[in-house]
Amino acid sequence: MSDYKKLRELALKTAGFAHSPYSKAKVGAAIETEDGTLFGGCNVENSSFGGTTCAEQVAIFKAVSEGKKRIKRVYVYTEAGWPPCGICRQIMSEFALPQMEVIISDSQGNESVKSLQDLLPLAFTPDEYNKR
Ligand code: ZN
Repeated sequence: MSDYKKLRELALKTAGFAHSPYSKAKVGAAIETEDGTLFGGCNVENSSFGGTTCAEQVAIFKAVSEGKKRIKRVYVYTEAGWPPCGICRQIMSEFALPQMEVIISDSQGNESVKSLQDLLPLAFTPDEYNKR
């Protein structure tokens, strides 16, 4: 059984809501904020491709819009186990707690746990503004 059972369940549920008529990919994300609240998101594509939003971004923006700005875990689900894209990694870095875990999962139940440092070395973070 997954150590991340609730996150996985939410990510799979939200993947089912994906609006992906172009890529046909169903992506689900679930995040856990500092206080243990969970938020889910799916990819929302647009016929004007620049209007497309990733599942991770939807979940993070839902949390931020509810006043939850510190993220403990991000769980990402795709059938094939795709990692988060570069833009999502940057958005995660804005709200990540220092030891935030990113769990990349697939339809077989495989889970790979990464740190943000693994995924985005030399991230441009809010701390950069303190160095001026
Ligand atoms: Zn993305």
